[in-house]
Amino acid sequence: MDADQLRQYLEFYQDLRVKTVYKRTATAPAAVPPPELPVIDLPPAQPAAESLLTILQDIGDCRRCRLHEGRTKLVFGVGNEKAPLVFVGEGPGADEDAQGIPFVGRAGQLLTQMIEGTARKEGINITRDDVYICNVVKCRPPDNRTPEPDEMEICGQFLYRQLVTINPKAVCVLGGTAAKAITGRKEGVTKLRGNWFKWRDLPVMVTYHPSYLLRAYNQEAKREAWEDLKKVLHFVYD
Ligand code: URA
Repeated sequence: MDADQLRQYLEFYQDLRVKTVYKRTATAPAAVPPPELPVIDLPPAQPAAESLLTILQDIGDCRRCRLHEGRTKLVFGVGNEKAPLVFVGEGPGADEDAQGIPFVGRAGQLLTQMIEGTARKEGINITRDDVYICNVVKCRPPDNRTPEPDEMEICGQFLYRQLVTINPKAVCVLGGTAAKAITGRKEGVTKLRGNWFKWRDLPVMVTYHPSYLLRAYNQEAKREAWEDLKKVLHFVYD
């Protein structure tokens, strides 16, 4: 479901209120011997899983950080809500900001080719629509600068909720900035790529950002990124 569809759902469901119903616990009358042990009905230890719609609803017309000032459209995420594989980039660029959809510019087209081309070669029958794609920050940083740590922390809470909700089999992190945000590691992407990390219980693979691969001199990095992607696709779909 893309951001526009989510928005339509949001309007449709705006009156919907989810109520949590707790069973009442009978309290034993104080003076009646022998005293019965009270049955305590606790609410579930973990709240019921939320939906991406709820998360989008919570983001709303977000002004939690300075990035909202230059925003045309908030870029929430796109793809299969039940995807076994999620790709996470850094933040929207100009094309994404205009359309409200992640990875639709040149880097996005390369990402689509990487996903679909590698899958086809490896005999895995998926397209871009079968995975989920989102970013650490949901609004475009001015002049495509790297998001500041506080911006990533504020927006990261929504990314984390997206990951918990989708609960994929693996996450593929694109580029050093997103890798740092998700793995907490300080090393650069050249060190981290091709390796598995964990975010909570989710296996996380780090690879290069497609924008980096667009630069002509990064041919070796391109080959490595294809290798990383092969690893992820086989892990998820075999
Ligand atoms: N770069 C990113 O990190 N994300 C996008 O959505 C587009 C370009």
